[in-house]
Amino acid sequence: MASQATIWRATVLTLFPDMFPGPLGVSLAGKALASGLWALEARDIRDSATDRHRSVDDTPAGGGPGMVLRADVLAAAIDAADAARDQPKVRPRLLMSPRGRPLTQSRVMELAAGPGALIVCGRFEGIDERVITARGLEEVSIGDYVLSGGEIAAMALIDACVRLLPGVMGKQASGADESFSEGLLEYPQYTRPQEFEGRPIPEILTSGDHAKVAAWRQAEAEALTKARRPDLWTIKAKQKRPKTTTDG
Ligand code: SAM
Repeated sequence: MASQATIWRATVLTLFPDMFPGPLGVSLAGKALASGLWALEARDIRDSATDRHRSVDDTPAGGGPGMVLRADVLAAAIDAADAARDQPKVRPRLLMSPRGRPLTQSRVMELAAGPGALIVCGRFEGIDERVITARGLEEVSIGDYVLSGGEIAAMALIDACVRLLPGVMGKQASGADESFSEGLLEYPQYTRPQEFEGRPIPEILTSGDHAKVAAWRQAEAEALTKARRPDLWTIKAKQKRPKTTTDG
């Protein structure tokens, strides 16, 4: 078991702490959590409310529908989480937000290599802008669609990080050889039976020729990426292009 000081730690600020660990409590992440390879704390933002109704939100300045999470309550929740025992002194402070920079595997790898993260989950129409700057929150999106709250987005981010932590995946290699690790989508996978509804496994995969298998997988990964993710392919194709003297 890793020591408490070095363990990867996710502190989640949410109005619904009971949603955690949720899916993070089962399978790979759940086993790793139970065996102390990482730690999770879900803190209730409402505990930082100061009025007798424990209110955390108010109407948007300037009018409009919905409610907005108050800057003072959220800032107090962040400060209380930072002051709690066993928290890393410096760690990324993330805000799950559809306005954020889209989460990528390379950002996940950076986060997994660090001490963990403090993750704020928005609700309602979002949070007061001032707390984002006042507490240096990095806005992170998990895709171009709107969820009703940041919790599921936070779980996706945590799951992506946790599986990369040392000792979590059965084979360390499995993180290095999958979609996005080389800027490509993964090649197709097959297993038994040898034939399924008239569709055989591509012959080359059972040939025993490792070099040919590797070349086939590379070509398939490139073709898939080109067809499905031209955005990724453009970047990859630039990297593959031999450098000329005019490239600088
Ligand atoms: N009014 C906001 C907007 O239009 O950008 C959407 C607020 S959404 C209903 C409530 C919360 O869900 C957000 O504050 C954020 O924490 C979370 N959320 C929604 N979609 C998300 C996404 N794609 N990625 C990350 N978090 C998201």
